[in-house]
Amino acid sequence: MTRSSPASDTRPVETQTSYDAIVVGAGFAGLYALYCLRRMGFSARAFEAGGDVGVTWYWNRYPGARCDVESLQYSYSFSEELDQEWRWTEKYAPQPEILAYANHVAERFDLRRDIRFDTRVTAATFDDKEATWTIETDRGDRVAARFCLMAVGCLSAANRPPFDGMADFKGAIYHTGEWPHDGVDFTGLRVGVIGTGSSAIQSIPIIAEQAKTLTVFQRTPNYSVPAHNAPLDPAYERSVKADYPAFRARARSRPTGFYFPFNAEPALKATPQERQRQYEQFWARGGLPFLGAYGDLLFDKKANDTIADFARAKIRSIVKDPATAELLCPDNVFGCKRLCVDTGYFDTFNKPHVKLVDVSKTPIERFTADGIVVAGTLHPLDAVVCATGFAAMTGSFDKIRITGRAGLTLAEKWRAGPRTYLGLASAGFPNLFMITGPGSPSVLASMIQSIEQHVDWMVDCMAHMRDVGARTVEPLVDDEDKWVEHVNEVAQVSLRSTCSSWYVGANVPGRPRVFMPYIGGFPVYVTKCNEVMDAGYQGFVFDGARASNTPPQIRLTQRWHVPIDSDVISPAMLAARRVPVV
Ligand code: FAD
Ligand code: NAP
Repeated sequence: MTRSSPASDTRPVETQTSYDAIVVGAGFAGLYALYCLRRMGFSARAFEAGGDVGVTWYWNRYPGARCDVESLQYSYSFSEELDQEWRWTEKYAPQPEILAYANHVAERFDLRRDIRFDTRVTAATFDDKEATWTIETDRGDRVAARFCLMAVGCLSAANRPPFDGMADFKGAIYHTGEWPHDGVDFTGLRVGVIGTGSSAIQSIPIIAEQAKTLTVFQRTPNYSVPAHNAPLDPAYERSVKADYPAFRARARSRPTGFYFPFNAEPALKATPQERQRQYEQFWARGGLPFLGAYGDLLFDKKANDTIADFARAKIRSIVKDPATAELLCPDNVFGCKRLCVDTGYFDTFNKPHVKLVDVSKTPIERFTADGIVVAGTLHPLDAVVCATGFAAMTGSFDKIRITGRAGLTLAEKWRAGPRTYLGLASAGFPNLFMITGPGSPSVLASMIQSIEQHVDWMVDCMAHMRDVGARTVEPLVDDEDKWVEHVNEVAQVSLRSTCSSWYVGANVPGRPRVFMPYIGGFPVYVTKCNEVMDAGYQGFVFDGARASNTPPQIRLTQRWHVPIDSDVISPAMLAARRVPVV
C-alpha cells in the first residue's frame, strides 16, 4: 500500500522517544484511547497503517457501505456535547458520514497531533528487566513505552484468497475492505463479485445498477433482512437527544449494548399464526432487531427453524426464478453467521443482467486473463470485486511480531486459538492491553460501546498502577484459563457455534476453529469487568506495587455501572447461559 498522505512521507523517524503508552491503530478504538490517556495525564503516540482516522470507514469505501446499528447508537457516548452537536442524516449512516464523524471527533478533541499515519507497527517486544515495550514500525520508528494498547480492529485484516491465475487477469481486482479512495466506475463493465457476506450484500445492488453484467460467485448463501433505511426522523432524533444519557444507559443494559424492542418469550410457545404475525411485524421494522422477535431463536434449533423458514419464504417470494431463489436460500441456522442487512439485495437477482454462480461444490478453479473459471466454464469479466471478508478478531495481531516475557510470542501462544482474560490482556504479555480483543463481546455488541467500555477499564487500571506504584500488570494463568473455558462454555450453548463462520475463524483455511467473541451478553460481561475491578483487579497480578490489589479509585469506568435489563436477561437465562445476543 502506498503512502496516502504527502505530509507523512516527510515526517522524521522517531528513534529516541519514550511514552507512557503506544496505541496501535486510529479507528474509533485508537481515537478514544488517545483521548482518555491524555485526559488522565499519560503521554501517548498512536501509529496507524492507514492515511487517516476512522479507520474501518477509511478502508471500506465500497458502494453501499453503511452501518447496520442505528446511527444514533453507532457513535461515541463519552461526550454529551458531541452527542448533541452531531447530526446524522439517515437511520443507518453511510460510510462517508461515519468517516466525517471520525474526522470531526479527531478535530474537536485535537487528537491528530499524536498520530503517525501511513505507519504500520511491525513488532512489539517486551523487555523483562526494564518492564517496557519497544515498538518498531515499517518506517523505521523505534520507540519505548510502559504500556501498549492494541486498537488494531476486529475486522481490519483483509482476507484475500489466493486464487490461481489472479496475476494473469487483465482487469482490475478490488477488495471491499481496501477500496480505492477515488471510487470505481463500473459503467459498461462485466463485473464479478466473489462472496455473499454483509459487504457483498450491501454493494451488489449498487454495482448491478452500473455494470453491463454482474456475476455473483456464491459459496454459502446468507440470510438478510431489509434495512428499511430512511432519512433520520427529526422527531425521533429530538426525543433521543432530550435525554441522551438515559438512552445510552438503556442501551448498555441490553445484551448487544444497543437498544431495540425485544421479545424474550420463546418462539414455540406461540401458535404458527402468532409467530407469522410476529415475524412479519419484526421484518417490517427490519435490520438486526429482526432476531429479537423471540428470546430463544439462537438456542433452540426448532425455534430457529421457524424463523429460518420465514426468511426462506421471503426469498422465494422476492426472487422470480425458482432455481436462483433456491440457490439463495440458506440451509443453516438463521443468524448463525453474522446476519446481513440489505437494501434490495434479493430483488437484484431479478435483473436480466445479474447471474448467480454456485461455487459451493465446485470452487472457483482459477482466474484467466479474461475472467473466472468454475467447473470448466469461463465467466468473462472486466473487473472483479473480492467481498471475501477478513481474518477476523486475530488477523491484525498475527501481522505484528509481539514478543512477551521470556521470548514468548503471541502467535505461538495463540496457535490453537486466542487466550485472554476478559479479552483485555493475555498472561505473559504484561502491560499489553487489547481493545475489543478475542474473549470480549466486541463484534457481538455495538462496537463503539464495547470500545469505550474497554478503554475506560484499561485507562482506569493504568491510573491505579500509577497510584500504587505498580510497574506491570498481567492476568494470572488460572484466571485466564477459567475465562477461556467460560467463553467456550457459553458459546457451546448458542447455536452460533454450529456453523462455519468468521466468528470461529472458519472462513480462512488453516485457522484454529474457536468461537472468539464472548457471547454471554454485553451487560453480563461489563458486570464481570466491574466486579474484577472492584475486587482490586481480581485475576490480575501487579509487579512492584505497594498494596496493588486494593480496591481502586474508579474514574472513567463509573458510567458502566448500569443494571442488567432483567426483562430481556432474566435470572433463569443467566443461570442457563442463554442470554440472547443478536
Ligand atoms: P478499526 O476501525 O478496524 O481500526 C483499526 C485500525 O488499526 C485498522 O484499520 C488498521 O489500519 C490499524 N492497524 C491494524 N494493524 C496495525 C498495525 N500493525 N500498525 C498500525 N496500524 C494498524 N460495527 C458495528 O458495531 N456496527 C456496524 O454497523 C458495523 N458496520 C461495519 C461495516 C463494515 C464494512 C466493517 C468492515 C465493519 C463494521 N463494523 C460495525 C465493525 C467496525 O469494525 C467497528 O464498528 C469499529 O469501526 C472498529 O473500530 P476499531 O478502531 O476497533 O477498528
Ligand atoms: P464475510 O461475512 O466473511 O463474507 C465473505 C464472503 O466471501 C462469504 O460469502 C464467503 O463465503 C466468501 N468467500 C470467502 N472466501 C471465498 C472463496 N475462497 N471462494 C468463494 N467465496 C469465498 O465478510 P464481509 O462481507 O466483509 O463482512 C464481514 C463482517 O464485517 C460482517 O459480518 C459484519 O460484521 C461487518 N460488516 C458489516 C456491514 C454492515 O452492514 N454494517 C457491512 C459489511 C461488513 P463463506 O460464507 O462460504 O465463507
